[in-house]
Amino acid sequence: MHRNGVYSESYIVNMIGFINTKNDSIYQNVEIVTVFYDTGSFSSVTEQVRTVGYTDEVARGHYDANKENPIMGMYPTVLNPKSRGEILLRSKDPKAKPLIYPHYFSDEKGEDLETFLEAIRFVEQLVATEEFRKHEPQLVRFEIPICDGLAFRSDDYWRCAIKQMTSTIYHPVGTCAMGPENDGKAVVDPRLRLYGVKNVRVVDASIMPTIISAHTNAPSMMIGHKAGR
Ligand SMILES: Cc1cc2nc3c(=O)[nH]c(=O)nc-3n(C[C@H](O)[C@H](O)[C@H](O)COP(=O)(O)OP(=O)(O)OC[C@H]3O[C@@H](n4cnc5c(N)ncnc54)[C@H](O)[C@@H]3O)c2cc1C
Repeated sequence: MHRNGVYSESYIVNMIGFINTKNDSIYQNVEIVTVFYDTGSFSSVTEQVRTVGYTDEVARGHYDANKENPIMGMYPTVLNPKSRGEILLRSKDPKAKPLIYPHYFSDEKGEDLETFLEAIRFVEQLVATEEFRKHEPQLVRFEIPICDGLAFRSDDYWRCAIKQMTSTIYHPVGTCAMGPENDGKAVVDPRLRLYGVKNVRVVDASIMPTIISAHTNAPSMMIGHKAGR
């Protein structure tokens, strides 16, 4: 009500932007998740390493930059990646954890990497706008040893940094894809019944044939709601 206090902001993701880096459609192909850390508020380095999968150096880069300045982390997400992950059984033991291979940037034409690069160029342009310049922003260079030999902010530098820093946003789908029986890859029919097995339905995010261009929680609830009716 008063726009202050603990519940007045999310403290995690303060701003989200959906853009189309190719300007070829009204639909977004990239989401930019923005996290604002007030001076000295970046949580512990180990926490970031554990949850986001950063290297120690990159987490430390956030931490150091935030010691005396607020920082704004702008994290692009490629919404409809062409690369496909894979999930396999480890063994015949049903309790054994599966093998999960995300296979980031494995698409043949390398389109995912280029879309990421376009997203970073968009962020650079955004930071160069008058509104942003009022706040005297500085682009922080994290320590990414493998990219050291490349000119900072060149295309090749960003491609290298993207490959080193990419992580998950925890929206896996598609392992029990819904589709027509003759599709070859479909696991459940449009009423979510498992093909070939009677009286079993799968009702969760896994039935989305491909990833949607947004977050998956509300759509998962919608799938549950529809199946339950
Ligand atoms: C860290 C994280 C952050 C996320 N943030 C967001 C966000 O901000 N916004 C958003 O839209 N989405 C977010 N998501 C994604 C969202 O949570 C998922 O897409 C959604 O929960 C998927 O729903 P689901 O029903 O398919 O699976 P789940 O929610 O994973 O439900 C599966 C359920 O099955 C149970 N289960 C597993 N095995 C068995 C078994 N053998 N027997 C009985 N029960 C079992 C599990 O305990 C669990 O309760 C996030 C996910 C994670 C992991």
